[in-house]
Amino acid sequence: MSLPETLARLDIQMPPFEPGHVWLAGAGPGHLAGLTLEVVSALGQADAIVYDALVDAAVLKAGPQAQAHYVGKRAGQPSASQTFINELIVKLAGENKRVLRLKGGDPNVFGRGGEEAAALTAAGIPFRFLPGVTSAFGALAAAGMPATLRGVNKAIILATGHGIDDQDHLDWASLARTGQPLVVYMGMSNLPIIAAGLRDGGLAATTPVAVIQGATTVKERLLISDLARVEADVRAAGIVPPALIVVGEIVLQRYALGSLMREVILP
Ligand code: SAH
Repeated sequence: MSLPETLARLDIQMPPFEPGHVWLAGAGPGHLAGLTLEVVSALGQADAIVYDALVDAAVLKAGPQAQAHYVGKRAGQPSASQTFINELIVKLAGENKRVLRLKGGDPNVFGRGGEEAAALTAAGIPFRFLPGVTSAFGALAAAGMPATLRGVNKAIILATGHGIDDQDHLDWASLARTGQPLVVYMGMSNLPIIAAGLRDGGLAATTPVAVIQGATTVKERLLISDLARVEADVRAAGIVPPALIVVGEIVLQRYALGSLMREVILP
């Protein structure tokens, strides 16, 4: 059965996108197949789509009626500032448009969805959050690593490797002492600080580490290493952002479960 036929059978009632409202939505980890139906429906109803670098621009084909506003990084140029983005979505909603603000992954997992919601609240503009699959879960699935597994872990820590400024670091040693696995977003430039902090907290040099680049996209690459070697291995392999760092025993589950997994290791 084709996708339209399957959707017709489901006969889902999608909430109407009202003019002058903003939907703060997540586009999933990368591949278009990771879009939720709610976001697909929003793409078809939007008058304006404000999207980031982590969003595959091919989603715009689902909303040809909408004006597209790109606010991510361009070659050599930084992203639009948060203030600019806040003002843009407020302005577009003020023009009575249906504004779809589309971010990679989930809008509220290191996605500043809350900051934009606060700006909308201050401007008196109604909004909704539309969740997306956060990249950690997309990447773990692609790499064949269960986020939680009975007998292995009782929690999974989603952390950012990048604070508000250079001094704003998480206490990696305390996180290490929880004994639970971590998935670190935006951690590549601080990898030495993160690895050293985790070792200070008692993690062995041999603790397994995976680095997953461009999960679910054509740029997907997976590196398996350990805490002592990861920095050198990342450099040697030329792994670049966007990438996630996974630390802990769940990494080894790839080998325990992986014999029937689709291979994602690229040269
Ligand atoms: N809101 C997003 C995260 C934005 S922060 C989410 O829920 O996924 C940006 C960071 O997310 C990147 O630096 C990287 O660490 C991670 N990331 C996003 N997409 C990714 C992908 N496809 N593969 C690997 N990491 C990704």
